[in-house]
Amino acid sequence: MPASNPRLYRGRFAPSPTGALHFGSLIAATASFLEARSRGGEWLLRMEDIDTARKVKGAASDILRTLEAFGFTWDGPVWVQSERLAVYQAALERLRQAGMLYGCNCSRSQIAATAKLRAVDGGWVYPGRCREAGLTDHGVAQRLRVSAQPLGFIDRIQGELRQHLATEVGDFILRRADGLFAYQLAVVVDDAAQGISDIVRGADLLASTPRQIWLQRCLGYSTPTYAHLPVATNPVGEKWSKQTCAPALDMGRAPQLLWQALDFLGQQPLAQLRKASLSELWSWALSHWSPEKIPRRPAINAAAHPD
Ligand code: GLU
Repeated sequence: MPASNPRLYRGRFAPSPTGALHFGSLIAATASFLEARSRGGEWLLRMEDIDTARKVKGAASDILRTLEAFGFTWDGPVWVQSERLAVYQAALERLRQAGMLYGCNCSRSQIAATAKLRAVDGGWVYPGRCREAGLTDHGVAQRLRVSAQPLGFIDRIQGELRQHLATEVGDFILRRADGLFAYQLAVVVDDAAQGISDIVRGADLLASTPRQIWLQRCLGYSTPTYAHLPVATNPVGEKWSKQTCAPALDMGRAPQLLWQALDFLGQQPLAQLRKASLSELWSWALSHWSPEKIPRRPAINAAAHPD
């Protein structure tokens, strides 16, 4: 259901159930929620569980319980990506028919041996060996052709970003050889299908955004606004994540952690609210929410156990 009313604000939080929520997740949930609610908008929840190898049993229900314990409320049912594979396949077929997609049987080592350019996210820019090979069979990866033109957008927090997809990313995979759909495809299809008007998420996804905008253009979708929040990093500058052993959010300390998240987001919560209840904090946060106070930085150092 694409947004029929162009003024309707619809935001979302889209966790991957690869483990428990941590302080970094709380920052993204809090900012996207406050931005949606303070603008009279809706806030939707989506479980991004297409990467079956990384999925952790019980994590999705644990995430929902944690969000409830922190006082988040969402609109409508929770969308689950693993239940939407036919929709992603249909989007791939459209791209194939438009001549935007091609099969690729290059191995990682072949790519590493022949690639010349480093990609924005640390891998290699695909050198294009299979571009004209005409492989459309099953059992090979499916890549999207990218534009040679630079793609730019203005992020509401991080400012202007320009990326040359052809030299900084390369034709990228939408479905892997083992049949798994890529995050880039699922996120774009679902943001459009849910009628998301405004995306607020961590700056670790900033470099993915031009790919997502390119896909939106290829599929004829409109582009939402983007606001990429600073990510919380550990003392050695790594993003706090499951991989860097970020501790799970402690539901018993929900008000204190919410206060910390508001502080991280530059909202300057009053010191006397440090001992406030969750509902007092939420009502203060809603009436004082000022997105322009969010630090315009891609990363900020934060303690593992803020207190
Ligand atoms: N599922 C992604 C994550 O947990 C977030 C995707 C997004 O917000 O676009 O990092």
